[in-house]
Amino acid sequence: MDLGISGRRAVVCASSKGLGLGCARALAGEGVNLVMNARGAETLEASAQAIRDDFGVEVTTVAADITTAEGREAVLAAGAGADILVNNAGGPPPGTWSDWSREDFIAALDANMLAPVAMIQGLVPAMMQRKWGRVVNITSMSVKSPIAILGLSNAARAGLTGFVAGTSRQVAPDGVVMNNLLPGIHATERADALDGAVAKAEGISIEDARARRAATIPARRYGTIEEFGAACAFLCSQFAGFIVGQNILLDGGAVNATL
Ligand code: NAP
Repeated sequence: MDLGISGRRAVVCASSKGLGLGCARALAGEGVNLVMNARGAETLEASAQAIRDDFGVEVTTVAADITTAEGREAVLAAGAGADILVNNAGGPPPGTWSDWSREDFIAALDANMLAPVAMIQGLVPAMMQRKWGRVVNITSMSVKSPIAILGLSNAARAGLTGFVAGTSRQVAPDGVVMNNLLPGIHATERADALDGAVAKAEGISIEDARARRAATIPARRYGTIEEFGAACAFLCSQFAGFIVGQNILLDGGAVNATL
C-alpha cells in the first residue's frame, strides 16, 4: 500500500534508537525525507546513514537534547516547513510515588509534556497555513493503565494527552491531523533497562525478568520497532485524515479493557 506521502518532510525527535528509529525508518520507507534527532551524535549519524543507504531519502541529523530550549531551537531550524512531526523523548526513571520531588516532576513534564507541546507550537502553524500536516506523539500505555513504578510517566503523559485532545480538534479544520501512539512493552534499550532494574532488585536473570513480563501480555511477546513504525507511518499517511485526537494502543492486548 502506497501511503501517499512520498516527498514529504518529517521531523522525528529522539530517533537514533528504539521506537523513534522505528518511526523514522517506516517513514523513510514511504519516501519521506527526514530530520532525525538524538543527543548522541555517533549513533544518530550511524542510524541516519543506514536510512540513506536503505531508502535513498534525504536525512538531516541534529544532535541535541530535545528537552532543552536550545535543543528544540536547533531541531526546529533544521525542520522548518516540515509536513510531519513525530514527538518523542526518553522516558522518566522508575521510582516510588512518595519519593519524587518537585524537580523530578518538572524534569518529567519538560521531557514528556512540555517538549512535545513546544515542538507542536513550533511546526504546526506552518502546516495549518499549507492545509496539510500530521503529528504523532509517542506516549505510553501508562496513559490508559497506570504503571506503578512509572508514576512520573503516568502524570506527565496524561498532561500531554489532555493538551492533544483539545488542540487536535482546533487544528483539524486546517488539515492537520494529530494523534497519540501508546506503546506497551516493546523490545528496545528502554525495555532492557527496566528489565535489568527488576532483575537486579529481585536477584533473577534479565532473561527471566523479560520472560515474566512477556507472560503478562496476551500476545506473549514484546512488540517490535518495525510494527510500531508501521502504525506511525499510517497515522502520518494521506489516508489518516479522518483520525483526529485518538489514543491508539500498541500493546499486544496488555491493557485489559473493552474500549
Ligand atoms: P530507547 O530505546 O531508549 O530510545 C530512546 C531514543 O531517544 C534514543 O535514540 C535516544 O538517543 C533518544 N533520546 C532520549 N532522550 C533524548 C533527549 N532528551 N533528546 C533527544 N533524544 C533523546 O527508548 P524507547 O523504548 O524507544 O522509548 C521511547 C519512548 O517511548 C520513551 O519515552 C519511553 O518511555 C516510551 N515508552 C517505551 C516503551 C517500551 O516498551 N519501549 C513502552 C512505553 C513507553 P540519545 O540517548 O542519544 O539521546
